[in-house]
Formats: sequence, C-alpha cells, structure tokens
Amino acid sequence: MAIRTVEEYKESLRDGRRVYIMGEKVEDVTRHPVLGPTVDLVGAAYELCASEDPEIRDLYVAPHPETGEPISRYYITPRTTEDLAVRSKMIQRSIALAGDLPFGRDIGTDCLNAAFVVAGKMGNEQYQQNAVNFLEYLRKNDLFTCGAVTCVKGDRSKEPANQKHPDYYVHVVDKNKDGIIVKGAKAHITSAPIVNEIVVIPTRQMRENEGEYAVSFAVPANTKGVTFVCRGGRGAWTDHEFHPDTPVRTLTEAMIIFDDVFVPWERVFMCGEWKYSMLLAYTFATFHRFTAISYKIPLVETAAGCAVAMAKYNGLDKIGHIRGKLAEIAAYVETLRALTNAAAKDPVMYGDIAVPNPLIANMAKLHFASKYHQFIELIQDIGGGIIGTAPDRKDWEHPDLHDYLEHYLGGAAEYSTLDRMKMIHETMRQTCSHESAFHEVITVHAEGSMEAQKMMILAEAPLKKYEEMAKRKAGILPWKGIGGK
Ligand SMILES: Cc1cc2nc3c(=O)[nH]c(=O)nc-3n(C[C@H](O)[C@H](O)[C@H](O)COP(=O)(O)OP(=O)(O)OC[C@H]3O[C@@H](n4cnc5c(N)ncnc54)[C@H](O)[C@@H]3O)c2cc1C
Repeated sequence: MAIRTVEEYKESLRDGRRVYIMGEKVEDVTRHPVLGPTVDLVGAAYELCASEDPEIRDLYVAPHPETGEPISRYYITPRTTEDLAVRSKMIQRSIALAGDLPFGRDIGTDCLNAAFVVAGKMGNEQYQQNAVNFLEYLRKNDLFTCGAVTCVKGDRSKEPANQKHPDYYVHVVDKNKDGIIVKGAKAHITSAPIVNEIVVIPTRQMRENEGEYAVSFAVPANTKGVTFVCRGGRGAWTDHEFHPDTPVRTLTEAMIIFDDVFVPWERVFMCGEWKYSMLLAYTFATFHRFTAISYKIPLVETAAGCAVAMAKYNGLDKIGHIRGKLAEIAAYVETLRALTNAAAKDPVMYGDIAVPNPLIANMAKLHFASKYHQFIELIQDIGGGIIGTAPDRKDWEHPDLHDYLEHYLGGAAEYSTLDRMKMIHETMRQTCSHESAFHEVITVHAEGSMEAQKMMILAEAPLKKYEEMAKRKAGILPWKGIGGK
C-alpha cells in the first residue's frame, strides 16, 4: 500500500482505454495536447500528497483506519463533523495550491459514500462487503475515480421504461452466475477519460417496473465495451494574453458509453432494488452538493478579488456605489462559506457515516447557482468595458504600440499600467470569455439543476412547522401559551 507518484498515475492511464476527442481516437491521454493538461491538473493531487510541507501532506494523506498505513484522505469515509470539515478544507485548498480542482476522487467517493449508506439501509451484506472491498482496492492501489450519475435521459418528460428505446438510462441487459451485463450512456462525467475506475449509480428514482435501471457498480476505465467521448479543450492560454506563471489548468468531461459491459458480481452495489434507488441518488446528491459548495468557495473568492482589485486600479474603491457592490459581492461569497461550514457542522448520521446536512448543503448550492450570474454582473460592472475590449498582450509588446498603451491604459496613479493590464486580462477570463461562459453553464447544471435543489429543500425544510406557527398566530389552531400546552 502506498501513495502513488504522478508518473505512476500517468503510466496507469496507458492501458488501452477507448478515448475519442474532436473526432480522433487518442492513443495516449497523457500526451494529448488537450487531455495532457487535464492529466497534469488531476495528477497534481498526487503532488499534494507528496508535498514537502508537512501541513499540506497531512491534509491530503491520512492513516488507514485499521492498518495505519498512509492513504489518500479522500478514502476516509466521513464519520464525524471534523471528517466533513477536513474534506471541505482539502477540496478548497487544492484549488489554491494546484491552480484548479484536481477532480480525481471527489465525485467517485461521493458515489461510494452514498453506496455505503444505502447498502447499510438495505441490510444487504453482500453489497456492503463489495463496497468495502472496492474501497480497500482503491486505497491499496491509490486509484483515481470518477462518479458517473447523469444518464443521457432522452425525453425528459418520460420515465426510463417509457422512452423511445430502453438505453437512455444505464440498465442491466443480462445476468449470469459471474456478473451482470450493462448498457447505456452517462453524460458530462468530469475527469472520466483520465481516471482508473468509473463508479456508476442511478441518476433518479426508479419505479417497480424499472428494476433493471436500479443499478450501481464500478468498472476499470479500460473495460471492454467502455468508450469515452470527450469535450474539446478550453482555457489553454496563449501568448496573446497576460496569464499566470502556472501551467495551464483545465478539466475535461466525457460521455461514457457502456456497450454491453460485463461487471463481475463483486463490483456490484445495487442490482434491481428499485425501492432504494431514490435513497442512493438522494444521498449521493447530498455528498456531492457538499463537494460542490466546497470547491466553489475558492473560485468565487478569486472572481471577487478581481472586483476588489479592478476597483482599486480604476481609482473607484472609495466611491459609494462601488463599495455597495463590493458589499454584495462579499455577502455572496461569505454566505456560501457560512452555509458550507454549517452543512459540515450539522451532519445527519446514517449508522456511523456522517452525511453533510442535506437541507443546508442544498440551500448553499441553490444560493451559489441562483445568484452566480448577478455576482458576475457586479464584477463586470466594476471592471468597465475594458474587460471586454482589452488589447492583446502582443499589442502591448509591439514596439509601435507599447508606449501608447502604457500611456493611455493607466488607471489610479499608484499602480503600474502593466499590473492593471494583467488584472484586466484575469477579469476578462473570469467574466468575459469562453471559459467564463462555460462556468456560467456549469453553475446552472453541474451537481444538479436548481430545480433538483429546490426539490430537496422542500423535502427537508420544516414546512409543517411554519404552517402550524402561522395557524396558531391566526387563531386557527389554539395558542400554546407559556406552559407549552
Ligand atoms: C461541467 C459539468 C460537469 C459535470 N460533471 C458530472 C459528473 O462528474 N458526474 C455526473 O454524473 N454528472 C455530471 N454533470 C451533469 C450534471 O449533474 C447535469 O448536467 C445536471 O444534473 C442536469 O442534467 P442535464 O444536463 O441532463 O440537464 P436536463 O435534465 O436536460 O435539464 C435541463 C432543464 O430541464 C429541467 N428538467 C429536466 N427534467 C425535467 C422533468 N422531468 N420535469 C421538469 N423539468 C425537468 C431541469 O430542471 C433543467 O431546468 C456535469 C455537468 C456539467 C455541466
């Protein structure tokens, strides 16, 4: 048992997996011009585990609960408030340290933690043992996982069994004494083509006639019948912009096609127990929204920082309406942080597993998603039109143009024009770019749509209590009085 090196991780990806991007088959994801940088970003998770700073290393590496050997802390199943708080801290800090989120264990463990909860609730010892054995396998080999939840879904108004064909949701097509055969496709799966293992759970509640769709399992990424179709690249910076000194940091997502894929029984965590499909999807969603709200914090902190800095570079930081906008920006970020902390501090216990508070985690995600575009608008407002029209870095460096730009693009006298230009380019990336448009879409859809969060809030919030209080006040129900009767 050991923590892998980045090189060992990269080597493990050269395993014959079937990956396509922009119409081409990829022979080696680690060397591909678009996927290579995503491998480097996700591989940074291994660098964090090997950090020379003991404080960082101890955050990402934990002793195995039974053997004490070092393992990735992501593979510690949360049992306490402290475990949840540390998980959130790991996610948040990795963005600051690695330059973006090395998404290689978060979603997979959100699925696996949910599978633990549900196997316990089902009382199915075999599934429980399968999940424990799979976790041990991940720990022992220090593997990366993705979480494949979102099915392609076809006609959204129709249930899985009522679609034009049976494959819009991943389902079991056959079973034998050794295992099950599955078919279907999952969409938008983060880091899928560059992980070692795919963890699959149902995307929604299944009904009695949909037992074949109530299926959860894990397979290696190079399993026969598995194909990845990746999103093209984004965000690779060029010499035309001012950009950080760090390497390009970007993620990838892929559609995963399961074409009659064989899964041995020991890798199955649910097969036919449709009554528990809702609990599995629901518990995953709670874990995953907690992951989401944790990683959103450093992202919005950085975007907020652009507004603070642009206000200063433009000489506007003491102006009343700008300060009012900065207050709104800060309130947005700090409300997210407060709710994230609260979700960890008030978990719901399923046996000995601590699930982040579902009401608060969903409120936090809804807060983040429903106000994100207004938050970006405030930054765009403070930044000014220059964040849309700024000259290129090559213009800045051109001998015919440099002095003009230096002369005319200055702001408040205490700052250099070059620093203002750099901040303009960063604010442009954050609020007026292909990348920022992508973030606006992620905000609306990734980790579930806002309607999904509202459904969970309605399921968890004490609406009955609110109603009773109003009815007592209205005299419809008797007043309880100081004696409480
Ligand atoms: C960048 C990115 C990364 C992602 N990473 C992952 C990942 O790692 N793993 C994973 O499993 N998923 C991932 N997702 C998927 C994400 O969870 C989904 O995008 C999200 O759940 C919405 O599903 P959808 O995209 O199919 O949209 P749709 O379900 O088509 O939603 C579109 C709209 O239709 C509404 N709608 C849908 N169905 C109904 C209905 N029956 N009745 C009424 N309204 C309806 C929705 O509320 C929404 O308003 C990722 C998404 C993105 C954008």
